[in-house]
Amino acid sequence: MTSVNDLIRGSAATSVRNCGADLASDPWTVDARPAPTYGPGASVADPAPLGMPRQGRLPEEYAAASPEELDRRIRAAKATLGNRALILGHFYQRDEVIRYADVVGDSFQLARAAATRPAAEAIIFCGVHFMAETADILSGTDQAVILPNLAAGCSMADMASIAEVEDCWAELEALYGTAADAAGRVPVIPVTYMNSSAAIKDFCGRRGGIVCTSSNARAVLTWAFERGQRVVFFPDQHLGRNTAKAMGVPLDSMSMWNPRLPLGGNSETALIQARVILWNGFCSVHRRFTVEQIAAARAEHPGVRVIVHPECPVEVVDAADENGSTDYITRAIVAAPDGGIFAVGTEINLVQRLATRYPQHTIFCLDPVVCPCSTMYRIHPGYLAWVLEQLVEGETVNRIRVADEVSSGALLALRRMLAVQP
Ligand code: SF4
Repeated sequence: MTSVNDLIRGSAATSVRNCGADLASDPWTVDARPAPTYGPGASVADPAPLGMPRQGRLPEEYAAASPEELDRRIRAAKATLGNRALILGHFYQRDEVIRYADVVGDSFQLARAAATRPAAEAIIFCGVHFMAETADILSGTDQAVILPNLAAGCSMADMASIAEVEDCWAELEALYGTAADAAGRVPVIPVTYMNSSAAIKDFCGRRGGIVCTSSNARAVLTWAFERGQRVVFFPDQHLGRNTAKAMGVPLDSMSMWNPRLPLGGNSETALIQARVILWNGFCSVHRRFTVEQIAAARAEHPGVRVIVHPECPVEVVDAADENGSTDYITRAIVAAPDGGIFAVGTEINLVQRLATRYPQHTIFCLDPVVCPCSTMYRIHPGYLAWVLEQLVEGETVNRIRVADEVSSGALLALRRMLAVQP
């Protein structure tokens, strides 16, 4: 099977391009650069307390090991640890790591898995920072959540810091006040996508707000509109816009919030008329999909079914046949009669895996340029071998701990989400 890694490194017999020079570099070259530091529960833009761990250089024995040696060591450590260690792998993770995962899923499915495996003393999260935080919040206090490479963040989650969100809220409160209308709806409800720091989830929980995923965003926005006159949505503008539009909210009733400008770059009148205020974040992988790619797929493959993720821009979602979460995309392909042709607008590792697993269909990525989630890509099998062997030795490295003062409000917002039926 041709893996995404083969495509990126050019070892496959193809002439594909990838989206970044860093991807083709040796992982240790990229990792030798100063790694970002995350405070407990914060995004990369929030100041981290002094002494917070930062990903150091991976010991040479792992960096220099062959794929075969890493495979042997990972399997041996996993066998020794047994059910004391649970390895979670996100759909967008590379196959070289996914093959060791006990559970594979989206961020919400994996957080749920973390919450329902009390026997696991260590949960090794092969995803990105906010996912490991959510697993820490939902798992037991005696369970350690480990992120194999501390530099694996999410560029979208990092686009909203808690300080910026608090400033935004202060401006909105000054404009709207806090009084409910005749129907008992407060002026504004904060909603945050799962792809955000624990501090922002906590912020939402403490202010009557809620978390959503791409699977339940519509149900969560319905919940929010029952309680508020309008919604402020962090940090992904596209998921917020696509979901609200599908619910019938006109685009001219949505304002975009730029945290660097007063009132987010809006007039008071626009904000008073807005039903949805969208933070100006985005996913660098999903915003690459275009209407032109969809037109090219339709021209080349008559009868193609185009399915994109709702993190894509609104014009792409409008031009596609369907849009939905990674779980939706997978289920749509599984349910299709043999011989389907699918152009999929989501991260390449998942698309490539679906193409391999369901050979009865023709499945390809809408973007002809190979573009994996470059932050998740930082988790190389060498890091997985390192954290597992450290556990065998009795050492817990790269533990992600969300501060208590942050986790309680975040848990409230997550529990509200769990109570909402999609
Ligand atoms: S695919 Fe996009 S939203 Fe998902 S983890 Fe990567 S950067 Fe973040």
